[in-house]
Amino acid sequence: MSDAFAASVLEWFDQHGRKHLPWQKNITPYRVWLSEIMLQQTQVTTVIPYFERFTWHFATVEALAAAPLDDVLHLWTGLGYYARARNLHKCAQQVVAEYGGTFPDTVEALAALPGIGESTAGAIVSIAYRKHAAILDGNVKRVLARYHAIDGWPGQSATLQALWTKARENTPKRRCHDYTQAMMDLGSMLCTRSRPACELCPVGDGCVARATGTQGRYPGKKPKKDKPVKTTYLLMLRSPAGELLLEQRPATGIWGGLWSFPELPLDDDLASHCRERYGEPAQLETWDSYRHTFSHYHLDITPVLIQLGRSPDTVMEAQQTLWYNVHQPESVGLAAPVKKLLDKLAELGPLGANGRP
Ligand code: SF4
Repeated sequence: MSDAFAASVLEWFDQHGRKHLPWQKNITPYRVWLSEIMLQQTQVTTVIPYFERFTWHFATVEALAAAPLDDVLHLWTGLGYYARARNLHKCAQQVVAEYGGTFPDTVEALAALPGIGESTAGAIVSIAYRKHAAILDGNVKRVLARYHAIDGWPGQSATLQALWTKARENTPKRRCHDYTQAMMDLGSMLCTRSRPACELCPVGDGCVARATGTQGRYPGKKPKKDKPVKTTYLLMLRSPAGELLLEQRPATGIWGGLWSFPELPLDDDLASHCRERYGEPAQLETWDSYRHTFSHYHLDITPVLIQLGRSPDTVMEAQQTLWYNVHQPESVGLAAPVKKLLDKLAELGPLGANGRP
């Protein structure tokens, strides 16, 4: 059964699978690892330019390990899920320190490194080292859940275990590296989240979800819980020279290590906070609020443009701060909502003689 499944998937892959993605050229454990981390939660088309830029800047794991975290976060800006970038950097340093720059070749050793789960470890072992190992990323979970009609949300351990069992059973001894790639392709090209192309599917004949018309039921959804809503001001403090004050956030937590505008709770008195902290502002303009959603909560952000009336050094704080020039941006990692606001501020152009943009 599993042999027939793998044979059909491989036959389809030979004709239709993707074989020219950037990480499929010059295959090395470093390049496979990097692409796998980037592909977690992110689509192939989005990842390609990031992968090209990363490998251009950091051609080896040693180069990545030696780079300042800020450079790594800067190149990651826009990909989201920044914990991945921080773990990527940590992992590179550990591979250099503990393994002399050569990634280990077993699932167990790889999965002990920061940011590498069992599925990513399996992909590195099978694709880069051409050894036998199963994977179970989001795409594969979807295919297997539908094909075998496995109920439940994959975040629950019983469901996950059932999927892993099928993943291992179906993974062939021969051409395991092609099978790994084929399953990822099958999941993203045919067995898509909505409207899967079952009529083109190489394993369509044996698929339980297809036979029963229940594709939409698998994989089971996460039980819904309402996300809490938090609120904040983002203070866009602009110096008389037009530069904006950014603070580096603590290494852990939301936007860890990234640069952001100072925050202020929404129930604080904005005008007196500014006056006390930064002197009488020349201009204070509250922009429309908008929502940024994290995995655990919504954040309703109210940006405020505060044109300072006096020179920057009088407001420098003890923590890490910098004055950011939107027209000559520094190479630092920026949280996505902050990057968007900076782009908007750049569009506003320089200040006029009256202190207004
Ligand atoms: S037949 Fe359809 S639902 Fe079943 S594995 Fe193929 S694409 Fe997915």
